[in-house]
Amino acid sequence: MERPTYYHSVMLVKEKCKGCTTCLKHCPTEAIRVYGGTAHIIKERCIDCGACIKRCPYHAKVAVTEPFKRIQDFKIKVALPAPTLYGQFKGLSDIGRLLDALIAIGFDDVYEVARGAEYVSQEVARRVAGRKVHNGMPLISSACPAIVRLIQVRFPELLDNVVDVISPMEAAAVAARRRVCQNMSAQPGDVGIFFLTPCPAKMTEVRAPQALRHSNVDGVISIMDVYGMLNAQIKKARHFPYLQHAGALGVAWAQTGGEMIAVGEENSLAVDGIENVIQVLESIENGDLSDLDYFEGLACVGGCLGGPLTFENTYVAKNRLRKLTERLPKVQAPEGEERELDREDLRTQQLLQPNPAMQLDGDFSVALQKMERIEQVLADLPGLDCGSCGSPSCRALAEDVVLGFAVELDCIFKLKQKIQQMSKQMVDLSETTRR
Ligand code: SF4
Ligand code: SF4
Repeated sequence: MERPTYYHSVMLVKEKCKGCTTCLKHCPTEAIRVYGGTAHIIKERCIDCGACIKRCPYHAKVAVTEPFKRIQDFKIKVALPAPTLYGQFKGLSDIGRLLDALIAIGFDDVYEVARGAEYVSQEVARRVAGRKVHNGMPLISSACPAIVRLIQVRFPELLDNVVDVISPMEAAAVAARRRVCQNMSAQPGDVGIFFLTPCPAKMTEVRAPQALRHSNVDGVISIMDVYGMLNAQIKKARHFPYLQHAGALGVAWAQTGGEMIAVGEENSLAVDGIENVIQVLESIENGDLSDLDYFEGLACVGGCLGGPLTFENTYVAKNRLRKLTERLPKVQAPEGEERELDREDLRTQQLLQPNPAMQLDGDFSVALQKMERIEQVLADLPGLDCGSCGSPSCRALAEDVVLGFAVELDCIFKLKQKIQQMSKQMVDLSETTRR
């Protein structure tokens, strides 16, 4: 099956970049190089985790999302608010008021992603309980698209363990379109479904879905871009309880461990922060966590609440969510006849494929030769991992040299050595000619 061309949504604003190399060290897939005075992203390696957006002191890395005016392209506009949105507003006393504010800024309907999360939780719980063969590794959540891409790039052996259930955003989009078409007698093409996102990885999930043939979402708008408009409307908004359909467990998906609790799997582990997730994935790969049933990994510290496109401090937002959900029922998604999504709706449509961007060569023996050459080049580098050469580590520079993207003299220590050697040769030469 043909794959969509590689798309990623974190970009560099060249004019703002000072070439300071701060971002270089924090990219989990070594996707950044600095040369010619500016950073460059190797797009096939970027997993849109947003780590560089958070670290750049000059705001030179940005997430590409869609402008709010895009909703005007559709006759009927539906907002899918991520539960993270609920924690962003000081003084918000109930979620219904925020949902009403979404109508006030131009949407015709709202479907909470938290309700989609309730359906997804039930389905994941079934997968974990009904697992026939335990291959010594836990099932892995598919909810964070940056982690799914990380697995495709760095841990392809774990792809079979990623649970084959769609994300809450996609589940909410299917249910929302169905509901609007039924209630408003609309055609599916007239309905524009817009996800309000805390992170760039969701934009990538929509534009280049990995486990679905097509996304059910029509557009992705940054929470940052609607924050001001919503804040102004919330004060005037009424409480429309009919818009609010999610329970506390679905809303809790916004934070680390929320999915794990909603799934109800006791023998689970939830970890946030890309570096921590990498460590755990390494342990899983090495068979050190063979007693675990389920793993929830989230790229951002604090979970989606810590996403780079959010407005509020992660911990303040978390506290707000706790208060907002105190009086909510645990679950609101109906069971039985009234279910809006059946089990088939929640299943992924295609297998996740490895991303070979970090492989040295498709041919195993050539890759082996390149590996040997990398070790030789590396042995001659100082091993300081200073980043001054524009590669994230000495090993990455050695790899770039072997792949033809850099030369050994990009290392300032090697360059200094070379200059010293050359000046000595010149002194020796001038002394010889004087004699
Ligand atoms: S952190 Fe990266 S993108 Fe930002 S100014 Fe420094 S080199 Fe450029
Ligand atoms: S978004 Fe993440 S993977 Fe992509 S360049 Fe930035 S730090 Fe690296």
